[in-house]
Amino acid sequence: MPEGIVYLVGAGPGDPGLITVKGLECIKKAEVLVYDRLASHRLLDAAPPTAERVYVGKSPAGHTMTQEEINRLLVEQARRGRVVVRLKGGDPFVFGRGGEEAEALAAAGLPFEVVPGITSAIAAPAYAGIPVTHRGLTSTLAVITGNEDPTRAESNINWKALATGVGTLVFLMGMANLAHITRQLIRHGRDAATPVALVRWGTRPEQRTLVGTLEDIAARAAEAGFANPAVIVVGEVVGLREKLQWFEQKPLFGCRVLVTRAREQASGLVRAVEELGGEAVEFPTIRVVEMDDYTALDNAIGRLPAYRWLIFTSVNGVSFFFRRLVHLGGDIRDLKGLRICAIGPKTRRALQEYCLRVDYVPDEYRAESIIAGLREKIGPGDRVLLPRADIARRILPEALAALGARVDEVPAYRTVAGGGPVEKIRRMLAEKSIQIITFTSSSTVRNFVRLLNEPRLPELLAGVTVACIGPVTARTARELGLSVNVEAAEYTIEGLLKAVVESRGGSGC
Ligand code: SAH
Repeated sequence: MPEGIVYLVGAGPGDPGLITVKGLECIKKAEVLVYDRLASHRLLDAAPPTAERVYVGKSPAGHTMTQEEINRLLVEQARRGRVVVRLKGGDPFVFGRGGEEAEALAAAGLPFEVVPGITSAIAAPAYAGIPVTHRGLTSTLAVITGNEDPTRAESNINWKALATGVGTLVFLMGMANLAHITRQLIRHGRDAATPVALVRWGTRPEQRTLVGTLEDIAARAAEAGFANPAVIVVGEVVGLREKLQWFEQKPLFGCRVLVTRAREQASGLVRAVEELGGEAVEFPTIRVVEMDDYTALDNAIGRLPAYRWLIFTSVNGVSFFFRRLVHLGGDIRDLKGLRICAIGPKTRRALQEYCLRVDYVPDEYRAESIIAGLREKIGPGDRVLLPRADIARRILPEALAALGARVDEVPAYRTVAGGGPVEKIRRMLAEKSIQIITFTSSSTVRNFVRLLNEPRLPELLAGVTVACIGPVTARTARELGLSVNVEAAEYTIEGLLKAVVESRGGSGC
């Protein structure tokens, strides 16, 4: 039997981008993934679909696996020869009980590795604009557990030393004891006016920060209902936040944005949402697949020199067309002499990746606008090849025909519904943890509605911003009973997000 191994991997504080390269590589090769309550969906999704996922956090009934049970589970799985990833929030060795898991593995003589993570003790303050050390303000930092029972007669914490000997103090798991902690620090000599920040759900869309002093922060927290998971930061560095805030000021800060595009196409939108400070949740409502029958496209490819124009209306059209061309033994040399039109900048880029120069891209990315530009370029009798989805709007071929062109519209791919995690999305919508839904085509709207199959859809979507890439998509959404809040003026991903940001007044969710 091959020897198993356990990787104790730090998942980082919440933002799924804050995992290490090595940690992500471990997840990608996991056969068993053991995770806790706050693990990011994105990281769990990175494991192979065949990986066994074992949840060891609190169950809805409140039952938690004991540490001994978790240790035993890791030992058993590694003994069975499996590659086990034990994913832990933040860093596994910072109040994560990773040390105990490593001890159990060492005692059993099983191999393990530790992949450190970014601890919330440093990352949550950083995302609130607080450097935990700063030249001239503090040169020492302590990370302290805040959940020591305050009724204990003997404390393990040297309050005097902390209060007077350390610059920045970061308490984890301390919210329930906040009043006790601040009292102890003041009693042992720290100035009651020392600034304190509480950072809850740090690095995540839900991040909230509350600032006060040792004297008043406990009352403020009680008033604001501030609870775990939060870090407590005590020290002069807290004052830097006024100047250094950055994350909470991003235009989509606090927004969870549903991306309904096909998985293959989603990455650009996902990245753009993240750059704006939002969190993208992928719900691919569409899968793009090959045609069952390629006779029409094959025939068209067989007589390419007969065409004057080749028009692509999507990146998918480009990739399936070339896949087929290559399948038939051809290559881009077969396009010599053809003029090429792309409906928008993404489609143009896809063509440029094949080293093709694009002769025409309309200013506005809609079928209607293509016509205006092509009017001067296409004459009666010109032959046009239009490879695209099996079901597509008629407007473009009809308008080209009206110009006198002879259009061959051939299906290069088809879209089918599905693929997305319906139940998860339904739950997130019900919990109101998604603030914005993006639709990038009529079929994403149709499939979204079909997949959710929800009789009370308007209720489920109440308060959620529905954003459509253009008027056609918006019309479909309205026809299906959705109320559309945002309609892009420029029919691109950038245009869509620009309109979303504007609708929020730049102040996030
Ligand atoms: N190993 C973890 C800490 C586990 S203890 C790490 O290195 O971050 C759990 C405590 O960590 C919570 O009670 C809270 O104080 C803190 N914590 C974890 N994630 C957090 C987050 N995203 N924002 C603020 N505090 C967080």
